[in-house]
Amino acid sequence: MDKVCAIFGGSRGIGRAVAQLMARKGYRLAIIARNLEGAKAAAGALGGDHLAFSCDVAKEHDVQNTFEEMEKRLGRVNFLVNAAGINRDSLLVKTKTEDMVSQLHTNLLGSMLTCKAAMRAMIQQQGGSIVNVGSIVGLKGNSGQSVYSASKGGLVGFSRALAKEVARKKIRVNVVAPGFVHTDMTKDLKEEHLKKKIPLGRFGETIEVAHAVVFLLESPYVTGHVLVVDGGLQLIL
Ligand code: NDP
Repeated sequence: MDKVCAIFGGSRGIGRAVAQLMARKGYRLAIIARNLEGAKAAAGALGGDHLAFSCDVAKEHDVQNTFEEMEKRLGRVNFLVNAAGINRDSLLVKTKTEDMVSQLHTNLLGSMLTCKAAMRAMIQQQGGSIVNVGSIVGLKGNSGQSVYSASKGGLVGFSRALAKEVARKKIRVNVVAPGFVHTDMTKDLKEEHLKKKIPLGRFGETIEVAHAVVFLLESPYVTGHVLVVDGGLQLIL
């Protein structure tokens, strides 16, 4: 069976590093993001026969169309990585409802929709592996990130419940929960100040998270697990 993996949020940051690692391991990849040019550039840079798709994970019809297209052009998707995500950090009293909705829709509903869309093919082929990218703040909370933390905490509950639901179908569902990682999402943070709080004394690199994602994707006896990749931040939060 071909190893076909859909990577939502594969055009930049953590998702892109996962794509680079998986391409080297011989997977056939679908690189998916809202910006098609960004996804095409990321897929093209991998070399080989990888495809790019434009999709907003928060839109059900987009997700359904993307899975139909992927199946036509790549075959059945048996691996899924949900790395699409956004943050709109602010104190709750200052958070606009539209920013609450966009974070919940992209980070939580989006992963629910892609997992649901992936199920049909995974159930038919009696196997599949999913990794959802959460966050350490989904486990510990963080001031100024209540809605983002809720979206990521919700993702853990969702993933563990789904893991129970589909284990008999030989489908595994796991979560990687990163701490601070160098990507576009963190480029405006005060790194010098923040890194003093991290036991390992630095932000993580995308490839360090990618290794954890691929480990869980490929671990046949691990499901419902949350793997924290945070330089020890959870020890002090
Ligand atoms: P980046 O901002 O670097 O990349 C985000 C990716 O998601 C891009 O490919 C983006 O492409 C895509 N994306 C965003 N919104 C949507 C959407 N609605 N539909 C489809 N694709 C979308 O983020 P990171 O790599 O830093 O983050 C990846 C994941 O890791 C996120 O879930 C984030 O919450 C999580 N995380 C990141 C941490 C960090 O320190 N960087 C720490 C903890 C968790 P496009 O804009 O074209 O859609």
